[in-house]
Amino acid sequence: MKGNSDKDNFREIHSSVTAVGGRKWMYALKPEGKWYNYRSYISYFYLILFFTLPFISVGGHPLFQFNILKGEFYFFSVLFTPQDFVMFGLGMLIFIFIVIVFTMIFGRLFCGWVCPQTIFMEMVFRKIEYWIEGNGNRQKVNDHKEWTTELILRKGFKHFIFLLISFAISITFLMYIIGERALFLIIQEPIKDHLTGFIALIFFTLVFYAVYAFVREIVCTVVCPYGRLQGVLVDSHTLSVSYDYVRGEPRTRQKTEEFGGDCIDCNLCVQVCPTGIDIRNGSSQMECTQCTACIDACNMMMAKVKRPLGLIKYASASNIESLEKFGLTSRVKTFLLILIALIGLLTLILATRKIVDVTVFKVPGQVLRYNQDGTVSNLYSMKITNKGKLTIPITLVLDQPVGIIETIGLKPDSLFAESKIDYLFFITLPVNKSDGRKGKVNIKLMSNSKQLYSGNLDFILKL
Ligand code: SF4
Ligand code: SF4
Repeated sequence: MKGNSDKDNFREIHSSVTAVGGRKWMYALKPEGKWYNYRSYISYFYLILFFTLPFISVGGHPLFQFNILKGEFYFFSVLFTPQDFVMFGLGMLIFIFIVIVFTMIFGRLFCGWVCPQTIFMEMVFRKIEYWIEGNGNRQKVNDHKEWTTELILRKGFKHFIFLLISFAISITFLMYIIGERALFLIIQEPIKDHLTGFIALIFFTLVFYAVYAFVREIVCTVVCPYGRLQGVLVDSHTLSVSYDYVRGEPRTRQKTEEFGGDCIDCNLCVQVCPTGIDIRNGSSQMECTQCTACIDACNMMMAKVKRPLGLIKYASASNIESLEKFGLTSRVKTFLLILIALIGLLTLILATRKIVDVTVFKVPGQVLRYNQDGTVSNLYSMKITNKGKLTIPITLVLDQPVGIIETIGLKPDSLFAESKIDYLFFITLPVNKSDGRKGKVNIKLMSNSKQLYSGNLDFILKL
């Protein structure tokens, strides 16, 4: 992207790294303005949702839960299991395409407005820091002077609050995985009874604390893979936070208009930037999270010097360079069509989704059992998952050939709503001399007169 800057080497230096390779700490000034207010309102809504959703259940089932340990995933209180992996894979593909299309059109807008990292960093931890340690310039002065009792107390208090919030995030995060009841058991009962859960709770607390207290913007500028994708997804038609260099250059601190463009080189847009970049070096810089702080800062400055607002604004590079209006490019339209097709396919699969999943296999290692009456038995394992909201009666029957089914342990005759059972059973068949080594059996799982499953299984008759 085109830009005007005297810092020609800005792409060679990471904004968080000093000239000698150390960490350059960001002392971003607190933004003030319309966009910051909008982002704050969105963040309040987001935080309320984040901390309350794990407590919401519908019909006794969590609204959202992603229990990777048990292989149970609830979306809007509907249970999905690993057997739904086709749907899951398709859902992931759709998500990736949404990200691609959205990014092609709006750039890194997601990062600045709804990414959990930005919301917590800029709207929670950074605000607390401003409250306890003062604005960015005050923090910088404090960090470069001798330690005083007041400074130690302020820093200590800040880190204590940071730890508490990290603990709250960790608790909520784990609730999305194991559910709120299991999480409260970890907290209430003796540690030794829930050692793994307790270690996970502490581990995530420390990870969140380290991220928000120390790693900070480096998550967005170095670690996050989505940020790295920008280079291939955005182009000159992508909307992003951009500096209108046509209007702004040549930048000058002179107040009279005949000396140059509208940028008065006050540097405020750089001072409010949480990733420490200069938007005037060009839009689509990888470190830019589209947080809009520089728009607010520049608008405030433009208002002060009585020049039109919008020197930094949401615009595409083509819009700034040639006043080209926003429109969807053929590349975006192609990806949109693929996305619509994928959503259609997922809708079809969801509409025809089976409520009961059945997996049956011959138990490995158990080849066969010779019985005294001359019959032969093979051992099988069956897993049935009922994803529906009703308890269903079940009966396992041997359809072909004639033989018997014996369940090991209690014979299941019903399956509760949203539950699964695993059990073992023998199939026993008579063997004739003329029989080969291997045959087939056909079993059916019935729920009253409805067939839930039918399958042909291998049966070993002789060794
Ligand atoms: S350049 Fe502007 S929009 Fe981008 S991260 Fe910095 S302040 Fe936010
Ligand atoms: S805030 Fe606006 S006027 Fe000030 S340096 Fe940035 S672009 Fe120029």
